[in-house]
Amino acid sequence: MKKIGLIGGMSWESSLEYYRLLNLGVKERLGGYHSVHCIMESVDFAEIERLQHAGSWHILCQLMTKAALNLEIAGADCIVLCTNTMHTCCEVIEKHLKIPFLHIARATAEQIVRQKLSKILLLGTKFTMEQDFFKDYLRQYFNIEVIIPSEDDRSKVHEIIYSELVQGKILDFSRREFQRIIKLSESAGAEGVILGCTEIPLLITQEDVSIPTFDTTQIHVEYALDFALA
Ligand code: GLU
Repeated sequence: MKKIGLIGGMSWESSLEYYRLLNLGVKERLGGYHSVHCIMESVDFAEIERLQHAGSWHILCQLMTKAALNLEIAGADCIVLCTNTMHTCCEVIEKHLKIPFLHIARATAEQIVRQKLSKILLLGTKFTMEQDFFKDYLRQYFNIEVIIPSEDDRSKVHEIIYSELVQGKILDFSRREFQRIIKLSESAGAEGVILGCTEIPLLITQEDVSIPTFDTTQIHVEYALDFALA
């Protein structure tokens, strides 16, 4: 089994999920006493959140690259960045690495294509919904049309992520808000929804929604295991 290098802490609520799902996945695939071989560099999210909202992406990309290099030096065979938002730095990070960077959007796009869907709602932080790094990846390499909620609803989703989900608060009211936003997108032609923030699956699962959901945490974990166990 190869050693998976995880960049975590963004937030730790979802890093826990990565660790749990990686172990469950290894158990399912290998059985017996098997568990995941991994190493995590976990950052202080207070600093990350402050820099994100200040628009200091250059500094953030330096921090992400440093974390990835620390993992490479520590013997990781690949890098898994446990957040969609910080994939905005993927090109900078990749440029500095000798080991593969397992892109969350690539993993997600492959699942969407497998299900033969071509028009998808993207939910995530404002950064993920509004910047191009995730949407363009899907459009450019996979020909998937990506739609995002209205400006008002983008603000609501963003607010729920930062003031609830990354702090471990799971509220029924917010779940209903997500359901309303997803329902609206169906009339705009969305055939599925990307849960494009690694904490959203703590709030919304396939049972809450009538169109197919793409849980980026679970998908990223399976992608990492395909690599580690190949
Ligand atoms: N975990 C989240 C994501 O997947 C948001 C936290 C962050 O800003 O990194 O985008």
